[in-house]
Amino acid sequence: MRLRSGAPVLVREPGHIQVGLSRPLAFTDLSAEERAFLAALEGRRVSISTAERERHIRLIDDLDRHGLLEPSHSSSVFPGVIRIQGVDPITTWLAIGLALAGVSGLSIVDPKRSTPHGRIPGFPGVGDERSLLRLLKDTSPSLRIATADEEARIEIFRGHGASDLIHARTLTARDVPHLDIVTDEEGIDIGPLIVPGQTACETCLGIEKAERDPWWPRLALQLGDPRRDAGVVVPTSAALVAAGIALREVLGNLSGREPESMECRPHPACGCGAPIG
Ligand SMILES: [Zn+2]
Repeated sequence: MRLRSGAPVLVREPGHIQVGLSRPLAFTDLSAEERAFLAALEGRRVSISTAERERHIRLIDDLDRHGLLEPSHSSSVFPGVIRIQGVDPITTWLAIGLALAGVSGLSIVDPKRSTPHGRIPGFPGVGDERSLLRLLKDTSPSLRIATADEEARIEIFRGHGASDLIHARTLTARDVPHLDIVTDEEGIDIGPLIVPGQTACETCLGIEKAERDPWWPRLALQLGDPRRDAGVVVPTSAALVAAGIALREVLGNLSGREPESMECRPHPACGCGAPIG
């Protein structure tokens, strides 16, 4: 373990040290040796030694509990497979972000052929699963390309106007966290990331929507027609922002971050098992 990259060690006043900026951790009444130890951690790319660990166990435990330590080898590899369904500008940028972030396995499937005629702006030659996978291997040679039938740790899928509720229910039943990215004529909705048994699921969200608009189920059925997805143009700038938000959601889950509270709570009529209230 070593101090998290970018976390400064700052002196607030004599004997009083602050580590980190985003969620700072303050130490007071430190000995000169402890102050020197903390100061030496900043910017150091080697591990905290066993001797240092034994001598400064209290400080190291505090830093660890506060999320200020990271693994020494920048093998911030996230094991398991992330599956992305759909090849379009948003998912292309997202897949590249995931590959660069250190996910160990990616699976790309595109049953609807999301980009039937065109190419992804900025990525000449990319327009389907195979071409995107080639780009990803070039971007991150250590990336493992997973098959379509391997169980995913997280699955991301695209929709236009409505989520693919049947697919989402299948993932919920299999306990696979999932994130859907849904476009409409004005913008892009990303997530929230659904963690089965913990957060509201797609059905919870759908029931809540139907309570606001009783015609929603009928509209959602019509929106499930894959022909409606074809030809949806997502500007590159919007795709980049959406991919960044989706990447944050996925990496947060892979890093063990608790799901964030959502506007829609699990619905009592759903029965998906997520805690209500
Ligand atoms: Zn539910």
